[in-house]
Amino acid sequence: MGISKIIAIEPYIEMTYTPKDIIGTSMECSIHGAILKSDGLPKFCLICGAKLKEIEIKKIQPMNYYALLREVDPNGIYEDSFLWVCKDEKPLIVISGEIGGTDTDRGIYEITPEIIATALRKFREHHKDLIALLRENTNTFAIKFGALTYYN
Ligand SMILES: [Zn+2]
Repeated sequence: MGISKIIAIEPYIEMTYTPKDIIGTSMECSIHGAILKSDGLPKFCLICGAKLKEIEIKKIQPMNYYALLREVDPNGIYEDSFLWVCKDEKPLIVISGEIGGTDTDRGIYEITPEIIATALRKFREHHKDLIALLRENTNTFAIKFGALTYYN
């Protein structure tokens, strides 16, 4: 078993979404500012011993489709249906590993407009429910056809 480079020519989804901010807590000393401690939140300032005030902190999350999937599909219904191919941070792409048209034998395959249309139609049908779910939860959403490269 090694790592292979895969080139897939098939329908895929390109989409962007707004990640939810994570709200966390920090403790702050009126003199020394925020006290950061890795193991739990201290109640008193480590420097002067003053009582600390609890403050809310917002962490902005990067666009991450594993996080989106956990959010929209908490029961993991679609977990194995799709493969996420991330290109830097954006735009991120989702492809299906299930449609496939040709086997892996050597050969030349012409990609005609009919083949593309059929693949797109099958893709929309096969992933109808997930497509609807993702459309609801994304800002931009487009089903496209193209060549995707990734490692597995
Ligand atoms: Zn202090």
